[in-house]
Amino acid sequence: MSTRRKFLQTSFLGSIGLFSGKKIMAQSDADYPTIKNEPIVLSTWDFGKAANTEAWTILGKGGRALDAVEAGVKIPEADPNNQSVGYGGLPDRDGHVTLDACIMDEYYNCGSVMGLENIIHAISVARLVMEKTPHVVLIGEGAFQFALANGFKKENLLTPESEKAWKEWLKTSKYEPIMNIENKLHKPASGGDMPGGPNNHDTIGMIAMDASGNCSGACTTSGMAFKMRGRVGDSPIIGAGLYVDNEVGAATSTGVGEEVIRIVGSHLVVELMRQGLEPEAACKKAVERIISRNPEKAKKVQVGFLALNKKGQYGGYALQPGFTFAVKSGKEERIIKAKSIY
Ligand code: ASP
Repeated sequence: MSTRRKFLQTSFLGSIGLFSGKKIMAQSDADYPTIKNEPIVLSTWDFGKAANTEAWTILGKGGRALDAVEAGVKIPEADPNNQSVGYGGLPDRDGHVTLDACIMDEYYNCGSVMGLENIIHAISVARLVMEKTPHVVLIGEGAFQFALANGFKKENLLTPESEKAWKEWLKTSKYEPIMNIENKLHKPASGGDMPGGPNNHDTIGMIAMDASGNCSGACTTSGMAFKMRGRVGDSPIIGAGLYVDNEVGAATSTGVGEEVIRIVGSHLVVELMRQGLEPEAACKKAVERIISRNPEKAKKVQVGFLALNKKGQYGGYALQPGFTFAVKSGKEERIIKAKSIY
């Protein structure tokens, strides 16, 4: 960037700081300007609504998007009735509830935990990885020990309901990710009802912009139900399940993580927005990339993307009907059914 442009941006930021009376957050340079904006928060699925409400207690008061997304996703993490996130999540095929989560702020700082057991708030451990270690990812036992060392409590995450669903699943032990595909929810190809409820997975991905115009995101899940021990999906992988670039916006994903990882989905969505696509169009293009890679497979799985740009525009798109997302801002609070290819 030319010195002159940099100077102009810096002066502009300085005058906003004076005008709003707010402290502009320290940045290494002025390439990523902080501008005053309308706060907004978006989350995957209907259960994102309650998470958004919590996030809004911070965003609505002018708080930081990073704090809001962490607080927001802790709601489904602590909810035993949500069998796809945190406490009460459906276990892997050996009966272990293993959590995956990641978080990213407006300065490209990020943290992630993979295969974390016996700790409810995986997202808060991910944040500590980001803030207190020189690393980005901690896995399994190392992540667990790190959590204990930082005051987290060891807890059993397997609820009686999820244990029952697992035992039911053990009768056939067929791994069939049936992902929230409208009208097909209860019927795996093998017949019978899907153990553990209408679908055997969802994830909360939350992206937000605060009153300073800064974006952050969080993503947390118990992963695909009855997965192989050690399996990690897209959700805790920066760039796959979540990506934030404060110059452009943020994106997150849900669905069959393997398909998202192959195209580094959330990063792709952000890059498409950088090229000028609006959020919904960027999500659609990413979904189309999954189809072009393997059209036959794409017909059978669900993937949904959700994105937000710096203007506060947002949108989502999915492979299959059935993907919903929740939005909350000063102007609206609702659940939206995303468009889909099929
Ligand atoms: N993306 C998650 C995973 O692959 C699951 C989901 O979002 O439904 O673990």
